[in-house]
Amino acid sequence: AKAAGRRTFLRYADAMDGDIRRRATLIAALRKVVERGELRLVYQPQLVLADGRIGAVEALLRWNSPEHGDVPPSQFIPLAEESGLIVSIGEWVLREACNTLADWRRDGIDNVLMSVNVSAVQLLRSDLAQTVQQVLRETGVPANQLELELTESVLMANAEHATERLQTFRRLGVSIAVDDFGTGYSSLAYLRRLPITTLKIDKAFIDDLGRPGDSEDAAITTTVIAMAHSLGLRVVAEGVETAEQQRFLLQHGCDMVQGYLLSGPLNSLDCLRFLQDWQNTPQV
Ligand code: C2E
Ligand code: CA
Ligand code: CA
Ligand code: CA
Repeated sequence: AKAAGRRTFLRYADAMDGDIRRRATLIAALRKVVERGELRLVYQPQLVLADGRIGAVEALLRWNSPEHGDVPPSQFIPLAEESGLIVSIGEWVLREACNTLADWRRDGIDNVLMSVNVSAVQLLRSDLAQTVQQVLRETGVPANQLELELTESVLMANAEHATERLQTFRRLGVSIAVDDFGTGYSSLAYLRRLPITTLKIDKAFIDDLGRPGDSEDAAITTTVIAMAHSLGLRVVAEGVETAEQQRFLLQHGCDMVQGYLLSGPLNSLDCLRFLQDWQNTPQV
């Protein structure tokens, strides 16, 4: 029994070892992604329910590694955060997203907000405001067409520091969205004190909407929409996959929807075509 225990332990240690090795190789590879041009962005449109316009697109990062293949962001973003590499990667994301929007603007797309994900490390441990100003200047994108998405845990854990930094962006005219709302522990009463503009309701609350029978998620969603509106916030529902969900959200005054029902993330050229087609024939 003792020997079996040891074997199990060794297998476990081996697996741990493999895991640590994989993390180390991925971090080493991540160090070179920007210079090697292995990153790209895809863009997912958001529909304004009131008028059927595309009001925004969210930029989402993709890593195609020659050694590791397509690594999902859920795997490499945490490693980039731990290693601090997210600062340079995040700067690349911001510049690339704004360059794309500048291209689209030249192709006649106006009034679309570009929403960029920002992690805690970038907000709290880099001069993000200066980077943002520099990128806006370089690309000619107006500040009011840029939105930064932050998760609620970041804002909760470092409320004072975060508030001060967010105020700088608000002064510039940049919008601030709270991402994955509802998954952490923040209350709307608390968020009221933060200089934010947008609330993104997490997909977990959207999944059951529009299904027959009462659902707790429906009650939560309608309450969040009403309270967010009373605070002057725009509300975006994430992960909208069915017409029933969208109908429910429209009925309850949600401002925007994002999800596979409208479109998955698209490369910049396909997204431009999508935006142009939509401008010509809006489908409410
Ligand atoms: P997120 O910010 O919550 O992004 C939404 C995720 O949901 C995206 O996954 C998107 O592709 C996916 N999605 C959108 N609509 C639907 C839908 O209708 N159904 C389902 N099942 N999924 C949908 P993705 O692209 O894999 O990104 C995962 C996470 O990685 C993001 O979650 C975000 O937290 C992080 N991330 C992505 N790009 C960046 C980035 O540039 N910087 C940082 N810091 N984080 C990023
Ligand atoms: Ca996001
Ligand atoms: Ca989200
Ligand atoms: Ca999420």
